[in-house]
Amino acid sequence: MLYIIATPIGNLSDITLRALDTIKQVQVLLAEDTRITKKLLDHYGIHVRLESLHDFNESAKVETLIRELLGGTDIGLVCDAGTPLICDPGFRLVSAANKKGIVVRPVPGPCALITALTVSGLPIDRFVFEGFLPKKVAERREFLKSLRHESRTMVFYEAPQRLRRSVQDCIDVFGGNRNAAVLRELTKLHEQHLTGSLEQIECVLGDAAQVVKGECVLVIAGDVSSADEESLEKAAHLLADLQGRISHRDAVEVVAKHTGLGRNRLYALGLDARLKK
Ligand code: SAM
Repeated sequence: MLYIIATPIGNLSDITLRALDTIKQVQVLLAEDTRITKKLLDHYGIHVRLESLHDFNESAKVETLIRELLGGTDIGLVCDAGTPLICDPGFRLVSAANKKGIVVRPVPGPCALITALTVSGLPIDRFVFEGFLPKKVAERREFLKSLRHESRTMVFYEAPQRLRRSVQDCIDVFGGNRNAAVLRELTKLHEQHLTGSLEQIECVLGDAAQVVKGECVLVIAGDVSSADEESLEKAAHLLADLQGRISHRDAVEVVAKHTGLGRNRLYALGLDARLKK
């Protein structure tokens, strides 16, 4: 079997019992950077054969690994932090394993984007993960423009040295009033959450040069103007139909379902209050 094992994104205690058991049980553990994974294994006193699997050797290694798996070897895959394959290696291996009918078992656990969303304070009943923003300014701006009317909350991974520039680009494209959050060093000693409008966040980033260090996730609220105007209109019609026929709670459910906004987003938009009127 091939096990896809999530490991901590900072705090070493954030590992599941099943992840530890699985790591102990496999014959080979594939790791992105074996030195980083060794620290985790040493912390838990685990000895297992470590092999590297990273972006630059994955293609070349897939065939051999598939042969080993077909021969009965249990293999685990971890990355430096969080869930493998999420902006990390493993896609080619999992894809090849699936094609060969090899059992691929997930051992779920931490993931930076999910962790960030849960503390962002933004509606997360619907969101879109866009991975890393393009490094080049022109490409990044074009890419952000393509998301101008995205109504779902958007999540990006960003390198600390580009964060300030990216936030500025976001202001240019989405406007400074758009709500956002920068979640830095999650689960680590110097964890920091910056929340508020993009302009407010930029202000804090601009004030303290030392702030932008460590790993961070950028979360930006979706466009609640155009898309939601349509949805609000639709909701108003639905409401007229439903009024007096079903409970308020059920009405929220129905409206959420038919407008695609999700309950939390309806509350965030104040639509809930409108429905009560
Ligand atoms: N596989 C990982 C996961 O499950 O989230 C992501 C790997 S990706 C190569 C690394 C990026 O994840 C970082 O640049 C940062 O954007 C984000 N990240 C990872 N750990 C983080 C943390 N503790 N706090 C904030 N962001 C983190």
